Amino acid sequence: MSTRTELKIDGLIAELLTLGQISEAEPPVVTRVVFSEADLRGRAYVRSLCEAAGLTITADAIGNTFARWQGSDPELAPVGTGSHIDAIPNAGLYDGCVGVLGGLEAIRVLQKLGFKPRRSIELVIFTSEEPTRFGIGCLGSRMMANVLTPKQALALRDKEGRGLDELRTQAGFTGPVESVVVSKGRFHQFVELHIEQGPYLEEEGIDVGLVTHIAAPASQRIVIEGEGGHAGGKLMPGRKDALAAAAELILALEAAAKSTGAIDTVGTVGVCDVFPGAVNSIPSRVLITTDIRDIDRTRRDAVMSALATAIEEVTARRGVTITTELVNADPPTTCDPAILEALEVSAKEAGKTYKRMVARAYHDSSFVSCIAPTAMLFIPCRGGVSHRPDEYASPEWIGSGVHVLARTLARLAG
Ligand SMILES: [Zn+2]
Repeated sequence: MSTRTELKIDGLIAELLTLGQISEAEPPVVTRVVFSEADLRGRAYVRSLCEAAGLTITADAIGNTFARWQGSDPELAPVGTGSHIDAIPNAGLYDGCVGVLGGLEAIRVLQKLGFKPRRSIELVIFTSEEPTRFGIGCLGSRMMANVLTPKQALALRDKEGRGLDELRTQAGFTGPVESVVVSKGRFHQFVELHIEQGPYLEEEGIDVGLVTHIAAPASQRIVIEGEGGHAGGKLMPGRKDALAAAAELILALEAAAKSTGAIDTVGTVGVCDVFPGAVNSIPSRVLITTDIRDIDRTRRDAVMSALATAIEEVTARRGVTITTELVNADPPTTCDPAILEALEVSAKEAGKTYKRMVARAYHDSSFVSCIAPTAMLFIPCRGGVSHRPDEYASPEWIGSGVHVLARTLARLAG
């Protein structure tokens, strides 16, 4: 790969457009919910491209798919790359798909150059990165890392009440769900190409982002129960207003998130359901949800403890009852320094501008990092827009990402 010639990726762009046509909604709107007919057609299309590139394809019991370019030393653990092709309702062409088809393109570029990897290079298409169907994100990678146990996975139901087991079997993925779990060392290293889903690379005119950390959310449902009553009839002394108590917790969370002094700590209450929700009625019950994120688990968990302290204090002072349910508390990821180094050298060699940055949304890499050294490579997306039909990454941006990824894979696979 000369640094001066740009990669020709017309074929890849055509493939992205073709995959985008495979949708439950009218194109250009992309909707491809896991195990839907569109998802299965999308998978078949990507598999056909992988076969055409001479890759060996296998799938596990929930449909995580592995397309392997055999290395000269096939006993060695492979270098992995890849992402997802499922898409939330009303999505666009690039989220996930750039990492899958771009990963395939990187392999094809290396093949054309006559490169012979020592380690195998494996393209992974993860099942259900999006939480649309089962309410939990990164299902495939989460199960591979056993962060979601087979038992927990089998308890998952979609909105129609259909279970994971039924749906994956119908989709043609069989075998014990336990076999999805892989051990540490399944991959030697893993690198995921993805659109940024934020505006910063484009704003700063930078070709690629080298992701040093992936933030992870902890989320809780909190129910505050007080005492209802007539807004006029019941005087202020002795009131147990559930919403006033919730307001204190919301402000306590905001203060705790600000108090860490770290720009990467964020805390949000995005839901507040008030019962009975009448203008002349004292709120008797309130549900709030909290979402606390950071790239540092200790710091994030400190914000959760501060909130727990506030809950105790508000309970005692206001005489309300507060119950909390932990929805999830996933591990933030620190990306692997050796892969970041390989990405940086590759970006330099490719003549691309780059910067180190934090990923603030979830990715399959968050969970792959539990089983293998992992890093991510971001490319810009227009206006930072994602999860919308007007999501866009230019051929130049995609070409830069593929170029840097190809060099990195070559470096890691030796
Ligand atoms: Zn994605």
